[in-house]
Amino acid sequence: MSEILVVVEAADGTVGKPTFELLTLARRVGEPVTVVFGSDAATLAPQLAAYGATRTLQVADPAIGEYLVGPKVDALAELAGDDIPVLLASTPENKEIAGRLAVRRDSGLITDAVDLNAGEDGIATTQSVFAGNWTVDAEAGPNPVITVKANSIAPEQAAGSDAVEEVSVTISDAAKTARIVSSEEKPPTGRPELGEAAIVVSGGRGTGGNFEEVEAFADALGAAVGASRAAVDSGWYPHNFQVGQTGKTVSPQLYVAAGISGAIQHRAGMQTSKAIVVVNKDPDAPIFELADLGIVGDLHTVLPAATEQVKQA
Ligand code: FAD
Repeated sequence: MSEILVVVEAADGTVGKPTFELLTLARRVGEPVTVVFGSDAATLAPQLAAYGATRTLQVADPAIGEYLVGPKVDALAELAGDDIPVLLASTPENKEIAGRLAVRRDSGLITDAVDLNAGEDGIATTQSVFAGNWTVDAEAGPNPVITVKANSIAPEQAAGSDAVEEVSVTISDAAKTARIVSSEEKPPTGRPELGEAAIVVSGGRGTGGNFEEVEAFADALGAAVGASRAAVDSGWYPHNFQVGQTGKTVSPQLYVAAGISGAIQHRAGMQTSKAIVVVNKDPDAPIFELADLGIVGDLHTVLPAATEQVKQA
């Protein structure tokens, strides 16, 4: 089997679930070799080995942290050459890297895949487009660059190797144009990451701008908090918590939609959740079509009562 590069997403020494999904998919079409940008590959490699990484390449060039995507594109272009496919998680930064990398290598590019397998010419992918209303099966030549949406598949463990190889790459002057002047890490919320959480409680315009009850219920359940675009556009909740077509795609075990009407663009980001609970005071709200459990009522009454029940359980 030939090699396939998997770019690792990690924070605070912990590999993120999207990377385990990439490794699971990569094993279907090749031998996954993981790429860690930074210097904590030794910590991450055993976690990656548990999902079938055959070895880990560490790229610790200081330019990686100093400039925007340019140095990462240089590094991946050198490591992948012309004949190794590259898989990345679908984040805004990775999609920029993927586009630039595909142009650099003159290779095919597929973004936001939700599945992949061995194809006739290389790797066959499935994309979910137009708010999940269309499914596109596509191949992009023998050695494409592919980004995969988080929560597309359940990661499966497999025996691998935690061998780490420090690699030095040549970073061009052209890659060192967009320098990071300052970056600020958002204070931790203490809640699970939205894209990876097993339970998500989301609030919409029906909150009236008060997310306290949504947050309290989420905390009682150990859940992440999400928001509809109406809530985000109103300035009630930060954009990085938006669920939907132009926000994050989530696929938790349980999704609670409180005060959200169920517009197609919101559904696009949550309709693959395993179980959906709806709280809405309008019995005709379209979101009830998706509900496994629907509660017609005022969220300002229902959520505090549910929070108390969970706390007492
Ligand atoms: P509304 O549609 O106003 O619904 C509010 C709901 O709250 C109603 O059903 C109402 O009955 C209920 N309610 C009111 N008060 C209470 C109460 N006290 N208790 C319980 N229920 C109550 N939207 C997204 O969410 N994510 C996206 O990524 C996204 N991307 C978009 C991209 C494009 C190109 C476009 C055009 C739109 C996009 N939208 C997106 C917007 C989307 O079309 C809807 O406008 C939005 O989802 C509506 O948010 P909402 O359900 O919170 O608000």
